[in-house]
Amino acid sequence: MQTRESLPYVGRFAPSPTGPLHLGSLVAAVASYLQARANNGRWLLRIEDIDPPREQAGATDLILHTLESYGFEWDGDVIFQSDAHDAHEAAVALLLKGGHAYPCCCSRRDLADLPQGPLGTIYPGTCRDRTVRGDAAIRIKTGDHATRFIDALQGEISQQLESESGDFIIKRRDGLIAYQLAVVVSDDLDGITEIVRGIDLIDSTPRQIALQHRLGFRTPRYMHIPVITNTRGEKLGKSTGAPGISPDFVADTLVHAFTLLNQGPPEDLARKPRQDIWLWAMENWQPGKISGVKSVVTTTLT
Ligand code: GLU
Repeated sequence: MQTRESLPYVGRFAPSPTGPLHLGSLVAAVASYLQARANNGRWLLRIEDIDPPREQAGATDLILHTLESYGFEWDGDVIFQSDAHDAHEAAVALLLKGGHAYPCCCSRRDLADLPQGPLGTIYPGTCRDRTVRGDAAIRIKTGDHATRFIDALQGEISQQLESESGDFIIKRRDGLIAYQLAVVVSDDLDGITEIVRGIDLIDSTPRQIALQHRLGFRTPRYMHIPVITNTRGEKLGKSTGAPGISPDFVADTLVHAFTLLNQGPPEDLARKPRQDIWLWAMENWQPGKISGVKSVVTTTLT
């Protein structure tokens, strides 16, 4: 069997089409791209379009156009996560059949009385032994052991899922596949060996690893990079009203992203042609320099 170490590097950037790319998502794209290229790896682009109610019309085209204008070159065709729908459903069916998951009919009101932890409601498994009919969410059974991994930048991360999240949802009551399950199945399907993404997702990683174990998938290596916050300490994103990055200031914005990643770009870099900027970044990429930085405040170009 091929071990993960012997596999060629396959990285990815996986934006959801919920709005334009903002500076925080650009920084995540830059880090995953440079890390893939520095390891002679492939870099895939996957649009995570499996939650239509959250999507914004035109966002996919805008994201693709922005990435192109910034000079990202992904390998192969753009992957649309919705094309993996059957694989997502098959994984849910497998988990149900194996007794690892169960339908849950708890209403919002039922959940409102449950204890809350940093990951949200801690679900105690109320429906584990109930016979549930009609519309139901599907939850995965969590065990009472710790789920651990070593993040390339953040070190050892450990969660005790049963007490910290409880049995979490893998398929929503409205029939949509939950992010945690979808991302795990898609990463496996796409052969991803390395995940570089924002630290805001680090709390989700143990749940994803638990699902990988249940489904018999290989666990990729993880590197969680700082998220970019505004001056109020809020993560840049749609909910905090972060504007999309402009295709008109590519050089300045790219160099700003390298600065936020603590790469120390030379002062005149932004005056160079785009391909020279990328060449500098690829030759000088040192992910270790971002180690320990949890979030970066930016006041400009956002
Ligand atoms: N689609 C997710 C987002 O845009 C990212 C998924 C991931 O990197 O695991 O936040």
